[in-house]
Order: sequence, then C-alpha cells, then structure tokens
Amino acid sequence: MKTVTTVAEVRAEVRAWRAQGLTVGLVPTMGFLHEGHKSLMTAAKAGNDRVVVSIFVNPMQFGPTEDLASYPRDLKHDEALCESAGVDLIFHPEPEELYPEGFVSFVDMNGLTKELCGKSRPIHFRGVCTVCNKLFNIVKPDRAYFGEKDAQQLAVIRRMVADLNMDLEIVGCPIVREADGLAKSSRNIYLTAEEREQALVLSKAVKLAAKLFADGERNAHVIIDAMTKLIETMPLAEIDYVQIVDSLTIEPVDVIERDALAALAVRFGKARLIDNVTLKV
Ligand code: AMP
Repeated sequence: MKTVTTVAEVRAEVRAWRAQGLTVGLVPTMGFLHEGHKSLMTAAKAGNDRVVVSIFVNPMQFGPTEDLASYPRDLKHDEALCESAGVDLIFHPEPEELYPEGFVSFVDMNGLTKELCGKSRPIHFRGVCTVCNKLFNIVKPDRAYFGEKDAQQLAVIRRMVADLNMDLEIVGCPIVREADGLAKSSRNIYLTAEEREQALVLSKAVKLAAKLFADGERNAHVIIDAMTKLIETMPLAEIDYVQIVDSLTIEPVDVIERDALAALAVRFGKARLIDNVTLKV
C-alpha cells in the first residue's frame, strides 16, 4: 500500500492498473477512519481489483462556524486501518493540491439539498459534489462507495452522477453501529461520557420510527412527533432536525406512500450527530 499526495501520482498509479485491465474502486473519506469506513473498503475490495481511499478534510463543505479546524485527524492510524482492509492506494492531498489559486468551478444542485442537513448547512453539498466530482475525475473509478449513514449525501451523489452522465457506479453500504447502537462516526470522539450515554437516544429514535412504520403507521407527522418526544427526554440533546422525506427527492412527505427516509441531526455539546433509517414501502 502506498500513500500519495498529488493528483499526478494517483493518475500514474491508476494508469498502470488500467494498462493491466484492472478495475478500480474508490472510497472517499475525511479520515479518522473507523469500522464504518472499513466496511466501505471491504465492499470496494470485493467488487474491484484495486482500491483507492481518499483522505481529505474538504474545507469547501464546512460552513464558517463548523468544525473544520478541530476535525480529528490521525494519518498513522488511518494508514494501518487501510492496510488491514487491503487498500492499494491512499490519496491524501493538501487543500492547495485540490484547490489551487484561481479555482472557481463548482458543482451545485437545484434540488435534494434544501432539507435535512442542507437546511442548516447551506453550502455543504456544493462542497461535497465539487470534491466528489474532482475525485471521480482524478481516480476515474469503476465504482465509488458511500455509507447510508450520510443518506442525503448518497442520494445527492447518485443524482449528480445520473444527471451529469458520470461513468461510474455508486454503491451504498449499510450503517455500521457500535455494540449499543450508536452509529459510528469520526465525530463521536467529541462526546463527553455523559453526552455519549445520552446520544444513544438517536439510534433509539430511528428504531422507534422503523417500529411504528412496521406496525402500519403511515402518517409521517405521528412518527416525527414520537421520535422528537423520545429525543427530548435527553437534557443534553439539541435537535437540529427530525424529518421524514422521500428517499429519492429528499422532499418532506405527509403520508408515506413511497420509500422514505426518517432522518435526524442532533447536537450534543460540540458534536452534531446524524442517523437515519429507510422506511421501505
Ligand atoms: P466521512 O469520513 O465521515 O466523510 O465518511 C466517509 C464515508 O464513510 C461516507 O460515505 C460515509 O457515509 C461513510 N460512513 C461514515 N460512517 C459510517 C458508518 N457508521 N457506517 C457506514 N458508513 C459510514
């Protein structure tokens, strides 16, 4: 396994693989890797001859008051995890490598980004789409792997790839959780012991939504209310949103008649955590 920092080095590696007729899978990440990221690498390894992991804390997807400066980083740990997953190449560029002076081009979307995380993070998905487009152009993968944990991101990327005829397959991978249910996240490191305990309510709220839906509830507002009440029992929880949206359009629904996403974002101190479940009709 190799770690490289420049676009030219990635292109040289991938070109050599292509010359041998090998397929390539890409796993884009922001590093501080955990088992959730590893599950993406394992899927990429199973589906491709070679796997590239990008580790880049993308400044463009952070708002001015967000945690860009304090976002956790640990390249040594990340390299060991990638190695153990059989990754072939890590791309770990500096911001200047991807956004050199004079950079002015962006990929923006006119839908799917107004609700959920897009509401409180208005520039977030423009940053995500732009960097993913760049990574797709740099690596030219056959497949790219994204977690269902960031369900809106997955929907946005799928839409972008379809709309702009990008020549790769997007593969979604299930949420990996801690033993007690908390969705694994690089940001869980921000939690104090007390916050960590109370943050369990997120996976419980998501489970509650799934249970109500399985029992036949189709009124989205009834499910949202039940989730909200449960989260509000935790004094340290500050709700950003609890929403039910159409899985494809990411527009709010009143009655669940097509596959929908019950999703939430809640702050505990410094950490803003997300979780979701797909309600399959
Ligand atoms: P991040 O480094 O947080 O930007 O995440 C990189 C990729 O890993 C994204 O596609 C995430 O959806 C995915 N991911 C993060 N946490 C998890 C998890 N707990 N389970 C599955 N995928 C995850």
